[in-house]
This record gives sequence, structure tokens and C-alpha cells, in this order.
Amino acid sequence: MACPDDPGSIAKSREPPASVVALCASILALDENASSALELARRVEWLLAHQSGLARKSFHAGAAAIDAAALASTGKRLARLDIAAREQFLERLGSHASAAAPIEAMKALILLVAGADRAADTALSKATAAEPARPDPEELRVIPSAEWPSVHHCDAIVVGTGAGGAMVARTLARAGMSTVLVEEGRQHLVSEFRTDTPLERFANLYRDGGATVMLGNPAVLLPIGIGVGGTTLVNSGTCYRPPQRVLKRWLDHEGLILADPDHIGAYLEEVESTLQIAAVPRNVMGRNGELSLLGAENLGWDAHPMMRNAPGCGGTCQCSIGCPRNAKLGVHLNALPSACAAGAVVVSDARVERVLFDTDATMHTAGKLRATLRALGTRTHQRVAAGILARRKDGSYFEIFSQRVVVAAGATETPPLLRRSAVQRHPMMGRNLAVHPALSVAGYFDEAVDASDGVLQSAAIEELHESDQILIEATAAPPGMGSMMLPGYGRSLLAQLDRADHLAFLGAMVADAPSGRVIGSKRPLLLYNLDHRDTLRLLKAVRSTSQVLLAAGAQEVITGIRHARTVRNERELDEVLLQANPRDLHLAAFHPTGTMAAGSDPERHPVDADGALRGATGLWIADASILPSCPEVNPQVSIMALALAVADRVLSMS
Ligand SMILES: Cc1cc2nc3c(=O)[nH]c(=O)nc-3n(C[C@H](O)[C@H](O)[C@H](O)COP(=O)(O)OP(=O)(O)OC[C@H]3O[C@@H](n4cnc5c(N)ncnc54)[C@H](O)[C@@H]3O)c2cc1C
Ligand code: SF4
Repeated sequence: MACPDDPGSIAKSREPPASVVALCASILALDENASSALELARRVEWLLAHQSGLARKSFHAGAAAIDAAALASTGKRLARLDIAAREQFLERLGSHASAAAPIEAMKALILLVAGADRAADTALSKATAAEPARPDPEELRVIPSAEWPSVHHCDAIVVGTGAGGAMVARTLARAGMSTVLVEEGRQHLVSEFRTDTPLERFANLYRDGGATVMLGNPAVLLPIGIGVGGTTLVNSGTCYRPPQRVLKRWLDHEGLILADPDHIGAYLEEVESTLQIAAVPRNVMGRNGELSLLGAENLGWDAHPMMRNAPGCGGTCQCSIGCPRNAKLGVHLNALPSACAAGAVVVSDARVERVLFDTDATMHTAGKLRATLRALGTRTHQRVAAGILARRKDGSYFEIFSQRVVVAAGATETPPLLRRSAVQRHPMMGRNLAVHPALSVAGYFDEAVDASDGVLQSAAIEELHESDQILIEATAAPPGMGSMMLPGYGRSLLAQLDRADHLAFLGAMVADAPSGRVIGSKRPLLLYNLDHRDTLRLLKAVRSTSQVLLAAGAQEVITGIRHARTVRNERELDEVLLQANPRDLHLAAFHPTGTMAAGSDPERHPVDADGALRGATGLWIADASILPSCPEVNPQVSIMALALAVADRVLSMS
């Protein structure tokens, strides 16, 4: 099905360069002349069309460079080599330190496309095997920006409709404020998650087609959701309270009074009741989660079924590409419709270009507004928020004027938006980025595990959580989309794919030091350099996750470390870890936080302890960016609770 934000249907996608076709054929041992190689390359090209120009150009340049390297080393282009020669060439090239990471990244994208397409029918039949647990809420009032006027006045504006923005808007609307949420993405309906292919859903639900990468050594993939509901549309539904030790640290070391356990408790309860959190029922958990719990039990480790916000979950394992049962309670199913029931409205398909201040509000008659602001008697060195300027998809602009603006665009988009807005540039704006880096290991079992039959993130192992800040979670992938970590090229890769249904997957995340930053104002550029102690803990996480799989009966474990052989026991595991180069860790991250840290220290915290931006009046921040450090758990509950606390501060100052 064609999607409104499709840059062209797959059938009509641009003809791929010959080097991309050759690479697809080589990675999956396809006959270069067969239609399957061309078809796969066209689909890769279609996904690339959703990504940034830089990502697309890098992929094309990489494929061309591989082809040129083949010519230089064998005297023939990749397409002219036979299947065995291609495999040998790719293995050789991939063993070079400088070439390994880019080749792996290109291979991962090709496998994602091939796997998602191969399993599309299975995914859709699982999606539609039962009716949705609930319909899309009628109360959710979304007006596409094309239908929104060029000037509007209201009591409060919220930028972003994700975890933070939705909660703030609900509180403000319920207090009687006319509230407008402005969202860059569009509304997604459950009917799309039941008819669109996994690849289409993936391309449409993630910013830049899922290709957000943090530059560093190693580079780390950081996918971010876009749409009405923000990243809660694609998250796994795992719900954790922030641990007491984290709240205490935020209170004692950062002066974040909002995190005072006595203060935040009521907000956490409100979030938990909104999200209807409960443990994963055994009947939908799936074998992947069961094996993780079995492995932990055999090791005597502390483990339990995951706490999630998915009443009516049918275990279709598609949370990260939009729940086809409307079971996972993203904020588009609760806080946003409640906000709209109280009078709020969501303007979609509108990118907020900047926050307007009293001196900026000149495009339309803002005199009355300025008079009101003057009457507030704000200090002259403070900039006074007056509204927002947003851009529609067709390039036209509109303004909304309000004395209260809450920015909740997420940890990677909020700092660039504020830079575009000419607020005072606090030296820590965009810095302090922690991401909770994650890795994945997989184990081959004698039995068919069918990891994507069950809940995507189903069980937690807490053994090393408090001692080492390593949180282990049984995490599978949507049907066909879990093959990206399989080693090898060509026929050896195909052999692994043939028994992929015997794989169980386990993920681990490490609470990291704030080792990254977001620079830029137009588009964010993300830089991240893994801290040495975090590297050591990630290696420990590889060890512990592999141990769990072996203890559950895995015959072989893929450690996810590039070039490492699979391991069959703990002795082999230790040998592999002894030789492991941290650069060869295969990392992703899903929990960016901290880039507009809130706290009491004007030098370290760009946002004050009430959630207000320093140097501005009437401008608050209420998303993952205000968390002062990695919360050590999946963050949505922490973000939502802090956002509720900020919303009450907005009200109390009004
Ligand atoms: C695959 C995946 C799985 C995850 N699983 C879990 C999980 O199981 N449990 C958990 O706790 N957390 C999970 N997370 C993380 C969690 O969902 C996020 O931390 C959380 O949603 C962040 O909330 P936020 O409000 O900061 O930003 P978001 O939820 O990302 O919302 C920000 C919104 O602002 C919009 N926006 C950005 N810039 C602009 C602009 N200029 N103008 C207008 N709109 C703009 C964005 O489009 C977006 O909709 C997961 C994340 C991912 C990617
Ligand atoms: S596993 Fe995820 S996608 Fe599938 S029904 Fe449950 S919540 Fe929805």
C-alpha cells in the first residue's frame, strides 16, 4: 500500500546503480543476472530514499568503492566474479579494520530489506489474526498543517507529541488552557499497521528512515520515532520506574527537586495508571523470553517477565514497527486523546523552525501580545517566549502565538530547535548526551525458537543491574528483521539464515557516562565516544548475555563481536573476549537523554530545576533531554513522570 509520506512506491523506485545490485547479489549469493538481485537492490534504493542525502550518498559511495576494490584486487568487477570468489573477496575486505564497519553497515541494511520482505506475509498474517484490542481513539483530534491557519493564538503550545509532550499537553488542557501540540510527523492509524509491509512501516515510522547514526568509534545506530505519538509509536512497551538510587542522585547531585522521591511518586503512579502497566502474561511471552528466564534460572540469577504497557497484547512481535493490535499503549492511545478530549488539538506534518520571542513576533499583529508580556514585568535580559514559527511540508510557514511554549522534541531535536531560536546559548546545551548503549547476542538452539513469535521485549534479567548497571532484556525483532547480526557473506550467510528460526536473542544495555553531544542547528549531528569504563562493561555484558544463552541450552552463541567466531562454551567465550577489540562491538542505542539537563546549577544545567529554560521566560523543556543522566532503565516512564511535574510547574507559574 502506498503511504502518504512515501517518496515513491517500491515499484517506482529509482534504478539502483550497478554496484548496489552487485553488492546485494554478493551478500546473499544471488545470481547477478537474476531478477531477484535487481529487485532487492530496488527495495534497498527505496529505503535509502527515505534516509538523509548523506546516508544515501555514503551507501552508493561505499558500494562503488567495494566494486573498485574488487577490480583492483582480482582484476574483475564484483559482478564478474563467481559466487565463491565474491565471498572470498568480501571476507578478505571485511577483515580490514578500516573497511569492516562500513561493509557491516551496508550488509545490515541489505539484510534488513531482504528479511523484512521475505517475512512480510508472515508478519501481516500475524498482524491480522485477531481484531485490534481497541480502535483508534475518536477523541484524538489531528489537523494536518495544510489545513491549519497561518496565524493562531492560544494559551499553550507544546512542540512534539511523544512521551514528554503528550503528558504535558494533557495536564495543561485539563487545567482549561487552550493547548496546541505541533508535530513534525503525521498521524499513523492501526489500519496501516495491519496492511502495510514491515519495510514500509519501518521507513515511515522512523526519522530519516531509521538511519540516524552517532559518529564515533564505533559508530552507533540511534533510531528515533517520528509521528503523532513520537517514539512511543515504535518503542517496545517496556516500563520501568527510575531506580531510587538514580532519583537520589538526581536530587542530591543535580539539585533536581522534581526527582525528590516524595514529589515524583504521585506522578509515577499517574503514568503507571495511564499506561496500564502489567507483567507480560506467559501465554504471549514466546519461547525467546522463556529461554532467557530458563537460562537465568539455571544460573541462579534474578529475572522476571517484563513489565509492559500492552493490555491485549497478542505477541505479534511488531512493537518496533507499529503495534497492529493497538495493544501497546503509546501516547497516541491515551494521553493525547485525553488532552484532545479536554480541548487540545494536534497540528501534524509541521516542523517547528523556531520558538518566537517578544522581539520576533513581527510577522503578524503581535502588538497585543507584547503589551501583555510587558505587563508581566519580566526582567529585560530574559527573552520572553511569544510562540512558534513552523513550516508545512509544502514549504509554507505558519505562526502560533502563546505566552507558554513547552518544547518536547526529544533529546536529539530539542537542542537544534533552541539554537535555531536564538535563545541564550548555554555552554551545556546539546552536551551531556547519554544513550544507554545496547548490544545483542544470539544463540542457536536445537529446538525451533521462532523468536518473533511472542512479545518483542519479554523478560528482564536484573542480576548485574545494580552492581554493574547492566540491564539484560530478552529482545527479539519483528519477523525477518533479526538477521542483521548474522556473520558471513554469500553461502555461509545463507546457511545461517536457513536456521535463523532456531535463534534466541538477548539484549543488554549499559548505563553510560554522558559521552556524546548534539551539534548543529538545522539538522542535528550526533557525536559519541564510548567511555573506556562503559566499553569494559559492554564486554562484560557480552559475557553475561552469552552465559545466559549457554545456560539455557544454546549449542552455539553469536556474540555480535565483529570477526569473532561463534562460541560453544564459556572457555571459548573467554577466548573470544580476550581478543575482542571494542571497536568491533556491534552497538545500537534507543534511549538518548541529557542534552538539556535540568538541575539547580546554572553552570551545568541549561534547564532549571523547574524545567524552565535558563535565560528565557515562558519556555519550558519536557522531554528526554532534561534527564540529568542515563536513568539506568528504559526511560519512557521517567520522561513522562518528569513531564507531568514540569506541566504542574507551568500551571503554578501561570
Ligand atoms: C525502537 C525503540 C524502542 C524503545 N523501547 C522502549 C521501551 O520499551 N521502554 C522505554 O521506556 N523506552 C523505550 N524507548 C525509548 C522511548 O520511547 C523514548 O525515550 C521516549 O519516547 C522519548 O520521549 P521524548 O518525549 O523525549 O521524545 P519522542 O517520544 O521521540 O517525541 C518527540 C516528538 O517530537 C517531534 N519533533 C521533533 N522535532 C520537532 C520539531 N522541530 N517540530 C515538531 N515536532 C518535532 C518528533 O517527531 C517526535 O514525535 C525505545 C526507543 C526506540 C527507538
Ligand atoms: S507484541 Fe508488541 S506489536 Fe505485538 S501485539 Fe504485543 S504490543 Fe502489539
